[in-house]
Amino acid sequence: MKGPLIGIDLGTTNSLIAVWRAGDEGDDDKPCAELIPNSAGQVLTPSAVSIDDDGDVLIGDAAAQRRVGHADVTCTEFKRDMGSTRIYRLGSRSFTPEQLSALILTSLKKDAEVFLGEAVTHAVISVPAYFNDTQRNATIAAARLAELHVTRLVNEPTAAAIAYGLAIDGENDGPSSTLVFDLGGGTFDISVVEQFDGVIEIKASTGDNYLGGEDFTQAIAMALALKLDIPEAQWAILDPGERAHFISAAERLKHALSDTNKAEARVQYQNETHEFTFTEKDFEKAVEPLLERIRRPVKMALRDARLEPEKLDNIVLVGGSTRMPIARKLVARLFGRFPETNVDPDKAIALGAATQAALLARDVTLDEVLLTDVSPFTLGVAISNYNSTGQLVQGVFSPIIERNTIIPASREASYTTVEDNQSEIELEVFQGEHRFVRDNVKLGEISVPIPKKAARKVAIVVRFSYDASGMLEVDVAVDGSEDHVTLTLLGNAARLDEAELAERKAELLKLKIHPRDDLPNRAVMERADRLYAELKGSNREQIGEAMNDFAAVLESQDTDRIQQERIQFETWLNGVESRL
Ligand code: AMP
Repeated sequence: MKGPLIGIDLGTTNSLIAVWRAGDEGDDDKPCAELIPNSAGQVLTPSAVSIDDDGDVLIGDAAAQRRVGHADVTCTEFKRDMGSTRIYRLGSRSFTPEQLSALILTSLKKDAEVFLGEAVTHAVISVPAYFNDTQRNATIAAARLAELHVTRLVNEPTAAAIAYGLAIDGENDGPSSTLVFDLGGGTFDISVVEQFDGVIEIKASTGDNYLGGEDFTQAIAMALALKLDIPEAQWAILDPGERAHFISAAERLKHALSDTNKAEARVQYQNETHEFTFTEKDFEKAVEPLLERIRRPVKMALRDARLEPEKLDNIVLVGGSTRMPIARKLVARLFGRFPETNVDPDKAIALGAATQAALLARDVTLDEVLLTDVSPFTLGVAISNYNSTGQLVQGVFSPIIERNTIIPASREASYTTVEDNQSEIELEVFQGEHRFVRDNVKLGEISVPIPKKAARKVAIVVRFSYDASGMLEVDVAVDGSEDHVTLTLLGNAARLDEAELAERKAELLKLKIHPRDDLPNRAVMERADRLYAELKGSNREQIGEAMNDFAAVLESQDTDRIQQERIQFETWLNGVESRL
């Protein structure tokens, strides 16, 4: 790997970038991963993109603040659509989820370059363990659009386990098993990790790609809507701006309920302000189906790792949503004890990714550590077979690499033809745990020419090779022949060919990105603007005046003064927001 050893947590809600510091030998400056701050001095950069009236692209907090007031030109949570064909329209412009992620990566890369004073060209990027091949490819495409070479994709819970594993290194004698419970903004991952003598072995990894803190927010927002007699069907067709008011009230409630068991919420709907009291019990009721969805992968991971809950030595919480007491209580109920709290749930993944970058570069200080990971899902092909009554059953899933196999892995399986005189075999590749392929995720297909013969007289050998980044290569050969057909799962939406990549990159280069140094000022103004829209009367007037004052300070172009006044303005806004 060239340049600094970088790890990136490209999150649904927030993204972080970290660097591995080799440290100075012989003194207290130990080698470790370190988080890099953005231009506002924060290590968490919201994964948000917005376009302002001048056509400037805002990234990070300045964009996140516009989520409610400028919902039509702002987007968040696009990680959930990575690898899909969804197009996001922001005003007159359109973006793919990869392009939006590329903008976040570009911003993080710039922050790191300013911080380190050197170019950042390579990075280890974390992805949810449950990201499929298409989503992993989309992440690599996003990095390429941001001119970053992905040295390795690392599974998020694995990265967290690395950070945690190294954090407790030396404190624990003998082997230990840890369960990493990672509930982020948009995904839920669970991993069982075993550590012994510098070996970190991921025993099992499962999860749910569509379950995270944002679903909890949605559930609360819908519960608030129900209190106003807005049924589910109507909720779905609410104007995005109106819905955004519910969502931001729900988000505030959710955070408040992490610190207290009862909170007040205010929602603007049809030109009226509605006030509610929301209790812990209301919260529990609203999110009960989500808690149920958490239980299943937990059980599956433990079963795959052949572990009883009581045999676990540590339970580690990762991801912002594990701050919810309801999530902690669920963990305590599932495992009969309280989890560890000495690893910051927001930071572990980025720190682990940077450590993984150092492991890959074989940094001398990490020579003793070895890491193995697993495939979080089963990979296989669609086949047809005859049942006991002689009927041909189509679309049956035939697994080749089973879930939780140690990676890199390579496995092969043989199949024969079912019809006479077939001239080709259309091999479809799937990922999932269901018996029929229609219930699994299709990853791609490959057409293999075969000699025409009677049914069952031609055999093909299918080899699946799954690399350490979780990317699959499929190699098919007709038994006894030298000819191979290889598929690196091309042809899906996320796999951009070079021409497409160049085109998408050119589109990004045409954008006018708001100057990095001004982003913190812009973020505070956007936040004030959001509060202005939410408030009324004298409160609103005060905010208007404060905005005018800060705008005048900005005109002065005196950077020291601007910074000082910005900090004061932010502190004042914190006070206003805490009283909402
Ligand atoms: P991550 O993707 O790990 O950054 O997690 C982001 C998610 O954590 C979002 O859904 C946030 O709403 C949620 N979150 C962060 N802090 C809290 C908190 N104090 N209470 C409840 N949820 C939180």
